[in-house]
Amino acid sequence: MAKNIEDLIKGYQMFKENYFDGTSSAFENLVRLGQQPKILMIACSDSRVDPAIITNCEPGDLFVIRNVANLVPPYQADDSLHGTSAALEFAICNLKVHHIIVFGHSQCAGIQSLLDHAITPYLSYSFITKWMELAQPACDQTYLQHAEANPEAKNHFCGKYAIINSLKNLMTFPWIKENVQKNNLIIHGWFFDLSTGIINAYNDKIDQFEEL
Ligand SMILES: [Zn+2]
Repeated sequence: MAKNIEDLIKGYQMFKENYFDGTSSAFENLVRLGQQPKILMIACSDSRVDPAIITNCEPGDLFVIRNVANLVPPYQADDSLHGTSAALEFAICNLKVHHIIVFGHSQCAGIQSLLDHAITPYLSYSFITKWMELAQPACDQTYLQHAEANPEAKNHFCGKYAIINSLKNLMTFPWIKENVQKNNLIIHGWFFDLSTGIINAYNDKIDQFEEL
């Protein structure tokens, strides 16, 4: 059973006792020195794939962007509201993180909506449909190369292709490209399988995902 709001308030009290016990606070240095994370995670909003829990991280370890299906848009310097790009800019240009991990997962509902061309019938405009257009190349590639695969496998393939697509889009940001070329920044694509708990990482040399 998923937690309700009362559980969250109890959880907060436990957190406060653990992290702010009156003598030394784990946040003391984080407040005094500010955050200095080395890693940016771009993860899905899905409630099952909290990157800090899965990688055993503490406050201050990860700078995290979460959105539907962990997508990265291409660099577009226009007047639109680019939340993901704004967070990317802060992580790379201000915090100067050394790694970016695009963290996808199996059973992704965003990916599934793309594969199914699902529409929410009672809405006149779907933000999900528009957002998921970013991953259309991944969907096309899935139907082209794995037309016979079962729905679960299709979701895996499409999720992985969408990660590769996001890695390509990351390189369209001039300050990401420059830092990658200077070896100040390394970009990674990880895919987390909810059934097995295994993370597979994209190896661009062989264009395959391999267990981490
Ligand atoms: Zn997802």
